[in-house]
Formats: sequence, C-alpha cells, structure tokens
Amino acid sequence: MDSRNNVEIIVIGAGIAGIATAYYLCTTYKKSSVLLVDSRQPMSFTSAQSGDNYRNWWPHPTMTDFTNHSIDLMEQIASTTSNVFNMTRRGYVLATRKKEIDDVIADLQVGYRRASPDSIRMHDAASALSYMSPDSDDWEVAPAGVDVLSNQQLIRQTFPLLSEDIANVIHIRRAGEISSQQLSQYMLEKIRNAGGKRLTASVRSIEVDRRFLLDIEGPGDIEHIRADVLVNAAGPFASDVAAMINVDLPIENIYQQKIAFDDKKRAIPRQLPFSSDLDEFEIGWTDEERALLTEDAETAWLTGPLPGGVHCRPDGGDKGTRVKLGWAFNREVSEPQQDLANEPHKHAQYPEIVMRAAAKLVPSLQTYVDDFPTRFSHYGGYYPMTRENWPLIGPLGVDGAYVAGGLSGFGSMAACAAGAICAAWITDGDVPDYASQLSLERYSDKALMAELTNAPSKGLL
Ligand SMILES: Cc1cc2nc3c(=O)[nH]c(=O)nc-3n(C[C@H](O)[C@H](O)[C@H](O)COP(=O)(O)OP(=O)(O)OC[C@H]3O[C@@H](n4cnc5c(N)ncnc54)[C@H](O)[C@@H]3O)c2cc1C
Repeated sequence: MDSRNNVEIIVIGAGIAGIATAYYLCTTYKKSSVLLVDSRQPMSFTSAQSGDNYRNWWPHPTMTDFTNHSIDLMEQIASTTSNVFNMTRRGYVLATRKKEIDDVIADLQVGYRRASPDSIRMHDAASALSYMSPDSDDWEVAPAGVDVLSNQQLIRQTFPLLSEDIANVIHIRRAGEISSQQLSQYMLEKIRNAGGKRLTASVRSIEVDRRFLLDIEGPGDIEHIRADVLVNAAGPFASDVAAMINVDLPIENIYQQKIAFDDKKRAIPRQLPFSSDLDEFEIGWTDEERALLTEDAETAWLTGPLPGGVHCRPDGGDKGTRVKLGWAFNREVSEPQQDLANEPHKHAQYPEIVMRAAAKLVPSLQTYVDDFPTRFSHYGGYYPMTRENWPLIGPLGVDGAYVAGGLSGFGSMAACAAGAICAAWITDGDVPDYASQLSLERYSDKALMAELTNAPSKGLL
C-alpha cells in the first residue's frame, strides 16, 4: 500500500492539526503509508490566521494538562532544532481594574489544581524578590506557574505601559509565542522524509465498507482513494466531513478577527508580553457616533458593555515593527465559508473598535485612535468550537475513523498534543489519562458534562 490512491492512513486537512497528526504517525509510530489531503495549500486556511500565542492557563486541570503536554512537545522540538519555530516565553499578562479578584484566583486554583502547591505566587509588596520580570524572551529560562501582582508600584515598575487604573496583574509564565508556519514546515519535512505524501484535492464523499473509499476532486488522474484509517482534521469543515460517514459532530463555528499594523510611532515596546484586558467595558463613542450606531439594529450592541479579552502584542520579535490586536468578542455562529471574504460576521467597524478597546489597556495606542494607521490588515477565521470549548480528539464511532478537531482559538498551541494523542489512538499507543475526556466519550460522562456546562469560564481569550 504505497501509492497515492491506496493508503493505510488518510488525513483530511493539512492545517496544523492534520500536519501534527501525520507528523506523530510518521515519526513516533513509524507509519509510512500516510497521505495528507487538502483542497488548499498546507496551513492556508484557519491555521494562516492564528495569533500564534500559547499558554497553559485554563479554568480546568484537564485543559491545563493538555496544553502543558503540547508545550512539552513543542519544547522538545525547539531544543532539537535550535528553536526553528521561534518559541518565546514572556508569559501572558492578564490585567484587571478590579481590586477584589477572588473569582480569578479561584479559577487559577482550579486550573492549576494538579500543579505544585507553590505554582500560584501572590505579590502584594512593592519589591518582590521572588518575582522574575519578563526581561528575557528565552523559553528555557522563564519560570513556570503564575505570579499575581497586586501592588501598584510593582505593576507600574514592571509594566509601565499598562493603564494606571490596573489594580491586579495575573502573569501566566508558561506562555508566549511561536511561529506555527515554521513549526509546520519542519513537520512536513519530517513527514516527507518518512515516506508520507501530500495531495491537493477536495474530498467530496466517503463510502464506508470495511475500508474507506473517498471520492475526490483534484488532479485529473485520481478520482478515488482507498484507506484503512481516516483522520478528520478538516478544521471548520470537520462536521461536513463527519457527516460523510454519518457522524454528527457537536462543533459550531464562530468567526473571530484580528488586526495587524506597522507600529510606525513606536507605541508598543518590542518587549511587551501578550497583554489582555480582563474587564468588560463600554467604548467611549461620541454622542454623534453613539446615535448613528444605535439607529442600526446590526450595530446597536456596540454601544453597550462588551466582554473583556481585548489583547495586544508586538509581532515579529525584537527587530520587528508590527503589532497585533485581537478581541474574540463575537458569539454568533456562522456557516463556514470556503471564501472568507463572504463571511457575514466580519465587522467593518472591527479595526476601530479593537484599537479603542486596546487603548484602554495600553494608553500609548491612543495615538492610533486619533490617527488610525493608514496601512493595516484586518483578517479573521473560524473558531470551531464545542459548547464547552474543549477539543474533540480520538475515535469517531465508525471503525477506523478518528477526529482531531474542535480546536477553537487554541489549535496552534495544542496541535502537538492533539496530533500525538490522535496518532496514539490510531496505533493503540499510550494515550494520556485524560484523553477520553477530550474525545466523544466525554458526552457519556454526565458529571463532567454538568461541571463543564456550569463552569463560569470556558477559557476563551
Ligand atoms: C483570528 C484567530 C486567531 C487565533 N489565534 C490563535 C492563537 O493565538 N493561538 C492558538 O493556539 N490558536 C489560535 N487560533 C486557532 C488556530 O488558528 C486553529 O485552532 C488552528 O489553526 C486549527 O487548525 P486546523 O488544522 O484544525 O484547521 P485548518 O487550519 O482550518 O485546516 C483544516 C484544513 O482542512 C481542509 N479541508 C476541509 N474540508 C476538506 C475537504 N472536504 N477536502 C479536503 N480538504 C478539506 C481545509 O482546506 C483546511 O486547510 C486562532 C484562530 C483564529 C481564527
């Protein structure tokens, strides 16, 4: 079984999830008859839109374990490749104006409940010898755990750019940035070296008869592919691919946006870690703007309180000049579009809104509120989400079929673990203890589902 139309394992989707699954199949499990099929070039759909941020902060220990596992795997690759994908680690800075943050601390305690007891460190004095400020971006020297800064002087001194009304900073230390494009290039090369193949084609339908018979549209000479094992890594189209084998996947797509611009006025120092505002707030529209927005039912909601989560970070390393701003405030479900230009939830006002919101956290951005950058990119993609915002990795309920999907806004950081776990399911390898909780099996666990349904936070940033 070594030709392109008769393979042992077919992986549908050459985004970061499909590539990582093929990588672990080819490397850890020494599979060679692996075919990655995608109607597009690798990494060109959702995976091309990623902010490329990673963190091990989650309001549930299973998700903390899962992302820690992924970060371990990324660090292994970084150490054996001289950090070919530019992994950095200045942490995530989560800022709030609230003085009482018992709810945030409670979330941290739940998320890090399986970590060492000293992993949440409180700093309420002006000088904190035990606090290591994020001067270096080297992932190998950064501390683990979380630092909670509650002293105004310490906050001002460490993060002088943040708004003066910030009362508490939660500094997640195992967090930073990667280049998922470079990580995927490295993996694709290893897949190729191990005999894995790639095909640019669209999967139209699948027949199940002991093996899988896929009807494809692509290069003229191949119309069908037979495979023993099928991996659904189709990102926002995972439900469509699952439906081809009569499986109903509980994944919905939500469109989220970002902007990036050249920071010509040097408003953001290159050393600023990923910084996010936890507080909800209202944008300070002028009376005239407010009246115009309120008139239209489509935009009226912009005048009310908006959820927290706006974030800002420099992009391109110390020598770069770009800044990225994001805010995943959309909650409306979309039918995923093949052409993202047709997405109805792409808001024309988004660049202005995100800049205004980010300037509340980082006032030096006000210069761009007053005088918007002339050149900027406004882009976005889908978060394929389950209701609980946990991924779906593992058996699909049809013999030989698996999924690596539902990766929401965390697929770049979680791809290594998602791929390694999916590959382990396929080959009967060792899966971590929590793996069944990340598979469709969790829906039979009533206690877990009740806990997740009632959780105050789903870890969405
Ligand atoms: C705006 C935005 C910001 C984000 N920021 C971050 C971040 O900072 N950190 C982070 O970890 N994650 C982030 N994410 C999430 C991350 O980008 C995704 O979780 C990840 O890229 C998903 O990868 P994927 O392989 O599952 O999907 P995709 O990259 O969409 O790949 C799926 C592939 O399947 C192919 N396909 C589908 N159906 C078929 C078919 N029938 N036949 C052939 N091919 C098919 C598609 O062409 C596509 O290429 C962000 C996402 C967005 C939208």
